[in-house]
Amino acid sequence: MNSTATETRKFEAEVAQVLHLVTHSLYSHKEIFLRELISNASDACDKLRFEAIGKPELLAGEGDLHIDVSWDEAARTITVRDNGIGMTRDEVVANIGTIASSGTRRFLEAMSGEQKADARLIGQFGVGFYSAFVVADKVSVLTRRADAPAGEGVKWESDGKGEYALEPVELAERGTAVILHLKADEDEFLKGWQLKSLIRKYSDHVAFPIRIPVEKEGKPTDEWETANDASALWAKPKSEISDEDYQGFYKSLGHDFNDALAWTHNRVEGSQSFTTLLYLPSQPPFDLMMGGRDERKGLKLYIKRVFIMDAAEELLPNYLRFVRGVVDADDLPLNVSREILQHNRQLERIKSACVKRVLDLIEKLAKDEPEKFATFLKAFGNTLKEGISEDASNRERIAKLLRFASTKGEGARQNVSLDDYLGRMAVGQDAIWYVTADSYAAAAGSPQLEAFRAKGIEVLLMFDRIDEWMVGYLGEYEGKKLRNVAKGELPLDEAEKKQQEEAAREAEPLLKKLKELLGERVGEVKVSARLTDSPSCLALNDYEMAPHLARLLREAGQELPDSKPTLEINPQHALLKRVEAEADEAKAKDLATLLLEQAEIAAGAQLADPAAFVQRLNRVLLGS
Ligand code: ADP
Ligand code: MG
Repeated sequence: MNSTATETRKFEAEVAQVLHLVTHSLYSHKEIFLRELISNASDACDKLRFEAIGKPELLAGEGDLHIDVSWDEAARTITVRDNGIGMTRDEVVANIGTIASSGTRRFLEAMSGEQKADARLIGQFGVGFYSAFVVADKVSVLTRRADAPAGEGVKWESDGKGEYALEPVELAERGTAVILHLKADEDEFLKGWQLKSLIRKYSDHVAFPIRIPVEKEGKPTDEWETANDASALWAKPKSEISDEDYQGFYKSLGHDFNDALAWTHNRVEGSQSFTTLLYLPSQPPFDLMMGGRDERKGLKLYIKRVFIMDAAEELLPNYLRFVRGVVDADDLPLNVSREILQHNRQLERIKSACVKRVLDLIEKLAKDEPEKFATFLKAFGNTLKEGISEDASNRERIAKLLRFASTKGEGARQNVSLDDYLGRMAVGQDAIWYVTADSYAAAAGSPQLEAFRAKGIEVLLMFDRIDEWMVGYLGEYEGKKLRNVAKGELPLDEAEKKQQEEAAREAEPLLKKLKELLGERVGEVKVSARLTDSPSCLALNDYEMAPHLARLLREAGQELPDSKPTLEINPQHALLKRVEAEADEAKAKDLATLLLEQAEIAAGAQLADPAAFVQRLNRVLLGS
């Protein structure tokens, strides 16, 4: 095919879908088209500046990079033009004829999934170029790559309905102009003051000048003014930056509508100088919620104000992937590549500085701003827990920030810290006790808690999926072991030990009877020191996985070795007296099996045969 000829092509099927979704769901936020087009223009300027490091001739002609926004009332058009990198014909096809942008793809996944994403979440996606079609019924793109001759310009045009046209054109200047032919009822955007206020609102902190014609009596003049702040915010002294500036910068950086929760802005001077401006968002973005980790955006690496790349993975560990911001290093070589970055000692130092700053910031919230801290934990607490395994060097610091529900806390509220727990520990208590389950109710109702309640020992109630795994890595805190109430031996004093041995001896015939009745279904039957009210519970050995977790993993398709549970009983309980007294073998077997099954249910395990359980229960209820 002759790539210089005029032709009409169909959009990729997914693009048509995105166009439909974007135009319908963005209706209440339609003005963000301007933010998105300016953001693309700014990216294009960044790319040119980066390429020009090695090829300064690319900046010939219009040397200063800028973005122009203009309007034409008669033609009913808005034009966003940049003198950035531009695109070749192939790039136009690849970038705006297919779903090139990961932001758009995530948007598509989220919006076409079960849940209809509500409009507030839309801002979290870079919805990108296609948002132009929210206000325009025709979009023209005129573009020429910076290293291509004037004759190799490209015109792309589409009504957003399934096809686009490509045509070679002569373009004197490099860069890209996006021309929006506005829909009939979008006249509000044909006003200079309106465009100007949108630039202020959404794009003030774009680091290139955004110029707009001076408006006189409602008409654009030939004179241009700069509508945005147009400087690198992070490079200014803190004293010159207002909270509003910080929030505005965050929003344009993170494509977010919501304010950031908190930020930390620092400059390190010395043998290696760099600036970091790091934000905690107030809501988890979609990809975090969906567990997506494939690609992380949101932390930009600059070298001496020149944008180099999105480098979230190089600059922050995975468990801090919710952080957004900018790192500007003075001393890295400008021609640095991703490969070099991954093994760069300087970058390692910057990375640990970033981690330290973020942890400092979270600690400050925990100390001074409890409400914000609670918001943070709700949004990112579980992500932070990953740091317990991922970042051994900061394990104690991270552990200090975690909060749990507890038998001495306020119901399901997760607001008890490990330090709170240590502070309330009884003299002589040598472990931090916890229980894991898959809900608050299941944790708080665990029969294994009974003896702890009776003795007044606090137990942390953990019911997030990651908890079991996380405590496994944590192991101990401030010299105290973390111990699961369902695992291993309980701490008993001499008198209690004696009592326990006595009880076990007395119950020997009962234990034997139960073992025979239950056969292969249990590994062992023991007298429990954990129970006061319940008849039975499961006990685990130190290396055994909690039953609720085993069930979840099995449901997720993982193969786990079958392990036979240890059944613990309370011989004082009336039900065990009944088993003891029951002479009819079938009836005794029903009772014994139910004792095992109720222990399994309480532990969140999967019943091997639910139908048989129900029949058994009914036989016992009817006394038949
Ligand atoms: P994203 O910006 O997240 O990549 P967009 O939908 O906004 O997604 O843009 C898609 C792609 O189109 C960009 O990645 C870029 O390659 C290209 N593009 C869009 N606008 C411009 C522009 N003004 N100059 C150069 N390339 C552009
Ligand atoms: Mg974009």
